[in-house]
Amino acid sequence: MLFILILMVIIFFAIHNLAGKKRLKDLQMLKAKVEKSRECPDCSEKVQINAKVCRYCHAKLAPLSVAELECIQTAYLKKLDRLDEDEIMS
Ligand SMILES: [Zn+2]
Repeated sequence: MLFILILMVIIFFAIHNLAGKKRLKDLQMLKAKVEKSRECPDCSEKVQINAKVCRYCHAKLAPLSVAELECIQTAYLKKLDRLDEDEIMS
């Protein structure tokens, strides 16, 4: 009986650990995604941060200034902090 109980506890932790790793991976993928994208001023679609032409509407995109890059980065980091908090809360 005790053996079964121990086995169940081990299985529970194994599943819990796997789910946690998957969520962490999702979060990391999301982080990589948001840090590298910005909004097209013409069509509002998300494009690569270094893109010179929008892949959706083919509008020419001006390269971002350092100040703009920092602003975007700060906004995203704030967003990500909130995501991390949600991750801890859940
Ligand atoms: Zn566009």
